[in-house]
Amino acid sequence: KPVVLSGCQPSGQLTLGNYMGALKHWVSMQDDHDCLYMIVDLHAITVRQDPKQLAEACLDGLSLYLACGIDPQKSTLFLQSHVPEHAQLSWVLNCYAQMGELNRMTQFKDKSAKNENNINVGLYSYPVLQAADILLYQADKVPVGEDQKQHLELTRDIATRVNNLYGDVFKLPDPYIPDFGARIMSLQEPEKKMSKSDNNPNNFIGLLEEPKKLAKKIKRAVTDSDEQANIYFNPTEKPGVSNLLTLLSLSTGKSIKALEPEYTDKMYGHLKGDVADAVVALLEPIQARYAEIRADRAYLDDVMRQGAEKASARAAETLAKVYNAVGFIPKP
Ligand code: ATP
Ligand code: MG
Repeated sequence: KPVVLSGCQPSGQLTLGNYMGALKHWVSMQDDHDCLYMIVDLHAITVRQDPKQLAEACLDGLSLYLACGIDPQKSTLFLQSHVPEHAQLSWVLNCYAQMGELNRMTQFKDKSAKNENNINVGLYSYPVLQAADILLYQADKVPVGEDQKQHLELTRDIATRVNNLYGDVFKLPDPYIPDFGARIMSLQEPEKKMSKSDNNPNNFIGLLEEPKKLAKKIKRAVTDSDEQANIYFNPTEKPGVSNLLTLLSLSTGKSIKALEPEYTDKMYGHLKGDVADAVVALLEPIQARYAEIRADRAYLDDVMRQGAEKASARAAETLAKVYNAVGFIPKP
């Protein structure tokens, strides 16, 4: 089976963007792939986190993965910090990544502009840790949103460089970016992507938000300020309306083509009401399962323990291969 690897940061509550762009696809890949899904806590500290909140966010995230349908019997589910090989391989790969390459990463530029008082080295080398995450498991496919495309290309470049020097050390991973839903936009600023770490909570919908609260956010979403209040799909001309149509389509399973004619004579308010209902219907069962799972710490501990064990065994193999390739002597 092809190996699949992906993860979300516990840098806040997972959003509808994370669900549509990533999680939803993770679930559907479990039967025909050998899947590894992690909570990337090492990545999260590239932005300052409150320690208590970070720990909670890890458990919340893990519970949400489970509530969304990730099955720990089928997939390997773990916390990144429980598998030290990620940090170890990351160091080695730092020595095979070039400053010039990292300078071009748009996520670093965006996040350092937002966190001017904490532009740390980890934020800069984040894509190298991500390369280590993927290459450790010799992943074939990496299901991610569009914002991660550039990091995936860098991962392939680093892997190719190492392979050219030392032979076939790494498998080259392919990004798996869905055709639709790979870039859910912010509700108030629909020209930028929805992000869980956005300072303005009105920009995102958390998967755990109360139905009433999230419906209100959707009803307050920015629609477009052109004179014609027409409803049609065109992300350039109508970013706000197109984002709402995307959310409606992905929540109901109806295509955009099927939805558009239903709204030809309708008002923005009508569309928003329907989007709110659809998103609530999508999230309510997930939230109910979440509440049960999150309350069962013993179960979560079992999942974490087993996941880390399975992941570590595989990661150790690749790390040994890399250490050997660069010339480190195995511990006698
Ligand atoms: P942060 O703001 O802390 O970076 P994030 O919302 O960008 O949080 P990540 O943990 O960085 O979330 O990304 C987890 C996964 O979700 C990745 O595969 C990423 O590509 C995907 N993703 C993130 N935002 C969106 C979005 N707006 N639309 C679709 N997919 C997204
Ligand atoms: Mg992100």
